[in-house]
Parts: sequence; structure tokens; C-alpha cells
Amino acid sequence: MLSKIKIIASTAVLIGILLLLANLDDAYNLYNIPYFLIGGGIILLAVSLLVINKEKSWLCRIGWHRYEQVGREFDLPGLYLYRCERCQKEKKVVKAV
Ligand SMILES: [Zn+2]
Repeated sequence: MLSKIKIIASTAVLIGILLLLANLDDAYNLYNIPYFLIGGGIILLAVSLLVINKEKSWLCRIGWHRYEQVGREFDLPGLYLYRCERCQKEKKVVKAV
């Protein structure tokens, strides 16, 4: 159910952006519908992410992690290990040296 909300919200944002880019104002009177779609979609997306994700920090829940380099993978050169200082989520980053 929640993942459906995410899809609906992303679709709304996408349609809003497409409507803006298509610039149909001359042919159709859309008023502020594209802006409502984008704004509403972003809010809905943020809310659904806050509900779905269980990280302690709400910034982490919307995917805004604060990664710090904590080490490197010695097996594979160029692969570095990062950890979020708020929620301890880890990710591996490949860096070209
Ligand atoms: Zn985090």
C-alpha cells in the first residue's frame, strides 16, 4: 500500500513536470494544475518516505544521509566504505584514484 503511494506520488510529480515542459497553456487552460501535481507529489513522497523508513533521524528517512568515510575494502582497490553518522547505514563507493 505504502509503496503504491510512492509510485503515485512520483507519477504525479513526473506528470506535472511533463505538463510544464509541454507548455500546453495556449491550447488548454490548465491553471496551476502542474504546480499542484509537483508540489503535492513531493509532499506525498516525503510523507510516505517518513512513514516507510525506520531510521531515527527524519533527514535519513528522506534519504538525506550524512556519510563519512570509515574505511576501505582491501580486497578491491578503489572501493571505499562510508557510514552515515546518524543512522549507521553503510554504503560502498567506488572511487577512481
Ligand atoms: Zn542516515
